[in-house]
Amino acid sequence: MTRILRINRDRLWASLTELKQIGAYDDEATGLRGVRRLALTDADAEARRRCVGWMLEAGLEVRIDRIGNVYGTRPGRDRSLPCVLMGSHIDTVATGGAFDGTLGVLGGIEVMRTLNDAGAETLRDIEVGFFTEEEGVRFGTDMLGSAVTAGRIPLDHALKLTDQDGKTVLDELVRIAFDGDAHERRPIPHAYIECHIEQGPILAGAGVDIGIVEGVQSISWQRLIIRGEAAHAGTTPIASRHDAGLVAASVVVMARQMCDSGEFGQLRATVGNFDLGVGQTNVVPHQATLTIDLRSPADDLMTAAEQHLAAYVDELAARHGVDVTWERMAKTAVVLFDPSIQDLLAATAEDLGLPSVRVMSGAGHDAQEIAAICPAAMVFVAGENGGVSHTPREYSSPEACGNGVDVLANAILRLADQA
Ligand SMILES: [Zn+2]
Repeated sequence: MTRILRINRDRLWASLTELKQIGAYDDEATGLRGVRRLALTDADAEARRRCVGWMLEAGLEVRIDRIGNVYGTRPGRDRSLPCVLMGSHIDTVATGGAFDGTLGVLGGIEVMRTLNDAGAETLRDIEVGFFTEEEGVRFGTDMLGSAVTAGRIPLDHALKLTDQDGKTVLDELVRIAFDGDAHERRPIPHAYIECHIEQGPILAGAGVDIGIVEGVQSISWQRLIIRGEAAHAGTTPIASRHDAGLVAASVVVMARQMCDSGEFGQLRATVGNFDLGVGQTNVVPHQATLTIDLRSPADDLMTAAEQHLAAYVDELAARHGVDVTWERMAKTAVVLFDPSIQDLLAATAEDLGLPSVRVMSGAGHDAQEIAAICPAAMVFVAGENGGVSHTPREYSSPEACGNGVDVLANAILRLADQA
């Protein structure tokens, strides 16, 4: 008979409630209290210290690496074996909620407390970690800490990235005293599991709390800078304008049409930044900057979508006599998670009496980076309000969170006893 652990749901919820006070702000749009904890800000630093405090209270050995990722280790019987790793992130977007990333980290810490309460010994070390700048909002590259750990982004490059005030990742790591000395290319784990809110409506629609994640779709972030020519709004004939704003707006519309066309499969396109500089009512805009976020569960269709959009922009540029510059901000291919860990998660959920479904992730996660160095998978937890996230309306019930972390705990326990 397999040993079954149950985490302490009240204690998990208390930790989630405590951490959401750090970086809390009043959100005007929703009238709710949200969380604004951008990476390596004072709020992030305070949340990091709180998590480190909890790790130490749970008796974990804490280490910080050179990109500021933090790990807490619970020793196993054979310390020469690769550990089993849980983790996620505690940074948020500017209009964040209390669960995105945080559930996986505080859930992991709760797993450690539960193991302690049960007096459980494991063969392998178990670690819980949180990764720097997962959201990419401040320094422009998402999954930064885990990508450095996986070797996709060199440490030197990452440390030199700047925020909009010109502060570097290194400056900020030093300032908040999270410039650790552990090597960022950490010892390779035996396996990695990330518990995370779904951030979508599929689980709630299926009436289940638990999703076993099959993989993460491809993500492409680009910045498009369009340079036209300022001109008088009253005297410049329509035909002789070089209207950067018009070109930018046309790109927004095309991005949506590509999604609606069905030609690019399950493509999702979003223009989340749209900037005409210091606009003037009576002047044709001379410059426009926008970002384009594309997502697809198929790499070939992603390539087709990027090519289609680039050709359209070329054609617009020629027609309106504007210059365009593309900047690649980020690009990740489709990542498929380890099938045996997916199966182990599904079996664990079943043993706990929790129905689950298999899903693809629409959002990027640290797990897709860590999947490059060891077998990895994710547990999704259902959200309410259609699974909205990156807004203070983000909410998963105590029961759903508890169920997800129960799956995490028992899967980790099984992996930690694998010879
Ligand atoms: Zn997240």
